[in-house]
Amino acid sequence: MNDHEHVENVPLIEDSLALDLANTHYTVRGAVREGLASPSALDGWLQRIRPRLTHTPASEALVVGEGDLAEFLALRSAIRSIAGSLAAADSGDGAAGERAVDEAAVDLLNAHAGILRTWQSLALSIGSVPSAVSRSEGSGVGGVLGEIAADAIAIFGTDRLTTLRACQAPGCPLFFLKDHPRREWCRPSCGTRVRAARAYRKRTGLVVED
Ligand SMILES: [Zn+2]
Repeated sequence: MNDHEHVENVPLIEDSLALDLANTHYTVRGAVREGLASPSALDGWLQRIRPRLTHTPASEALVVGEGDLAEFLALRSAIRSIAGSLAAADSGDGAAGERAVDEAAVDLLNAHAGILRTWQSLALSIGSVPSAVSRSEGSGVGGVLGEIAADAIAIFGTDRLTTLRACQAPGCPLFFLKDHPRREWCRPSCGTRVRAARAYRKRTGLVVED
């Protein structure tokens, strides 16, 4: 299996760029998988999220090397650490988690997000009224890291935090945003798995805990 085939198996829930990066650490049938095992795997993942990037022009080539991979892995680790501290443990009342947030992880998020200076610039075109256009400084791979960090900040630092969940399906390490009152799992496949396990326990006479 080469890296590009592998990257197609990496979950992309599309709730948020930051959580999609966090979820490149995933499991298949309980076994931990590394979705970003090489620069080539990172390249494949970037191609998949690229249509959702707003700071990186489609025309801009993103060339990634080992150093970039290390930066993405460090940012992922920071996002997973903060999400793990803050995600509500159950899908009920939205109460935040108990663990203290790691300050070094926060510093890393802020350092990346700081790259994304944006400003409004006035665009003139002949024969029409001037219009305000958004410009940003972040470009290349650094800009992508900045955009992902900014997305994480927009979850961790706002009311959206009440929707952050760690999937409670056994062995599932993924995070998602509970954007619907009835949404319980990161993906439908986790719900299917949990229901099948419950049905099995019922059939075999084992105690069903819930
Ligand atoms: Zn799950």
